[in-house]
Amino acid sequence: MSEQSSGTPPNTINLLADYESQLNQLMQLDVSTVSQADKSSYLLNILNCLHQHHQHQCQAYGNICVANQQQQSASSLATLPYLAVRLFKQLELRSIETAQIFKVLQSSGTTSQTPARVFLDKATSARQSKTLINILQRTIGKQRLPMLIIDSPSIVKDPKFSARAAGIQGLAFFGRDHCYALDENMQLNWPAIEVFSAKYADKPVLIFGFTFMLWAYFIQVLKQQNKQLNLTQAIVLHSGGWKKLEEQKVDNNTFKAQIKHTIGANKVHNFYGMAEQVGTIFVECAQGHLHAPLLADVIVRNPYDFSVCEMGEQGIIQVLSALPTSYPGFSLLTEDLGRITAIDTCPCGQLGKTIAIDGRLPQTEVRGCSDTQTSETRGAVA
Ligand SMILES: [Zn+2]
Repeated sequence: MSEQSSGTPPNTINLLADYESQLNQLMQLDVSTVSQADKSSYLLNILNCLHQHHQHQCQAYGNICVANQQQQSASSLATLPYLAVRLFKQLELRSIETAQIFKVLQSSGTTSQTPARVFLDKATSARQSKTLINILQRTIGKQRLPMLIIDSPSIVKDPKFSARAAGIQGLAFFGRDHCYALDENMQLNWPAIEVFSAKYADKPVLIFGFTFMLWAYFIQVLKQQNKQLNLTQAIVLHSGGWKKLEEQKVDNNTFKAQIKHTIGANKVHNFYGMAEQVGTIFVECAQGHLHAPLLADVIVRNPYDFSVCEMGEQGIIQVLSALPTSYPGFSLLTEDLGRITAIDTCPCGQLGKTIAIDGRLPQTEVRGCSDTQTSETRGAVA
């Protein structure tokens, strides 16, 4: 928001230098060795830097902090200010000058809704990409794998679907020899799938799709047509929410069993993330739990008084991310309901918190970016 004619004041330069050095320190650590207590103290310092930085650079954020008497640094992650995620639809929230805008992400592309706008500069965008790579390489390894995308190639060309397209493009970076499994009518492109699966049968490949589309437009159609693939070494990544699958009484075990049956793949990983916090995604481990990544954390709040819920108690998910300097989105109250399921105790060996997402808050605005297919698919990565 701030348009400064005389450049960035020296105190904010120090603040950002301090932020960068603390962030770099945390990035050097391994998520398997940093306990929740240690992570919280690292993150608190980093997020307090961001809290001060955005007060200096974003007038709207500063005003919100003044109105809530939250200008001071917080003493714990739970007492940091948080913004309702829908504010990114209502306000132009940015902490950079117009000339520094590198990319604007929009999380909803339909005309019936105002899209959320997330303003990125080069530094924030680079931080997001680097973090996404670090997180996903834990699951898919460092090699770029041949990639089957469960979507239509036309989607990435359609400006109306920017978040869905951004999600696909973000993930496509991790693959090579890309094959789109659906045509522009969202029907199976069987000739293309057949070539891909013959070429890469029993070889490592990456499959990505939004959860509902993977289920409804791929797995179910293969099943109806009695088709089976031999992609036994495939790693399947999917994201976008379970609401439509829950309505069809499909749980994660059923989902995985049918993927195993139709594609042959054993490795299936869901991930949770916000278009407003690209980079810090929560990936499902081999034990089936969504893990807060090293540079992010999660708090669950009571929907009535916003107090912090106990472990296991359902509430509204608040996500914290150490990455954004170009917009004040480091602490966001989402419109998702969920629970903390473990802290430092997941058998997979990753420390920190794991969460379960239970659905959307009732009567919140539907925030789809692929509404013609599903109202809940969200572009989580870019
Ligand atoms: Zn785990």
